[in-house]
Amino acid sequence: MLKGISIAIDGPAAAGKSTIAKRIAQKLRYTYIDTGAMYRALTHKAIKSGINMDSDHDLSDLLEGTEILLVPNNGSQAVWIDGVDCSNEIRSEEVTAAVSKVAAHTTVRKLMVDKQRELANESGVVMDGRDIGTAVLPDADLKIFMTASVEERAERRFQENEKRGIYTPLERLKEDIEKRDRADSEREVSPLKKADDAILVDTTSMTIDEVVDKVIELAEVRLER
Ligand code: C5P
Repeated sequence: MLKGISIAIDGPAAAGKSTIAKRIAQKLRYTYIDTGAMYRALTHKAIKSGINMDSDHDLSDLLEGTEILLVPNNGSQAVWIDGVDCSNEIRSEEVTAAVSKVAAHTTVRKLMVDKQRELANESGVVMDGRDIGTAVLPDADLKIFMTASVEERAERRFQENEKRGIYTPLERLKEDIEKRDRADSEREVSPLKKADDAILVDTTSMTIDEVVDKVIELAEVRLER
């Protein structure tokens, strides 16, 4: 087992970040933290509670009274909200369509970043999101900015959905991905952006194994330093 370093993986929607991050964490026996799941959890609770998603104040209050747990589960990660497993619910179309709006608020982000830093306090962590290398862990030992063409990302999401018995037309998925990327890149607080010292990995024509091997190779170089 490699000694603990921190690995930050950022990039646009559906670039395969969580699939890769999970595999790397499993291989290195590191803790995996899916920060997108935390914003999704708050969005899910806000929808259920009828909270105004334009209000940073109301959402932050809601977040402070919410317990979000990321529970390792067979190489994957379950998401528990206030003691209930909501792993599937947080991936719904409704949550996906609203999450960027929730994630754009200043106080919401500050509270989330505090929680994420606490979680990353152990040695050996792989964290994925949009602002990990730029804001959450600016001193991460290895920063990856993972991307792929929007066509490829939509196609991957399509196949993933098919396996889960969900049918959304490819063109619609492409539009949704583009819309979410735009919202995440154009927001004022910690927008989606490659950190200056992040390594760009374009996975368009790479297999999952190839990407995992590349990131592990990069991690090993950091460990030898
Ligand atoms: O990674 P995932 O697609 O599940 O993230 C859902 C949404 O959460 C993103 O589109 C973005 O709006 C928000 N997010 C964020 N910062 C992060 C992780 C996710 O703003 N670190």
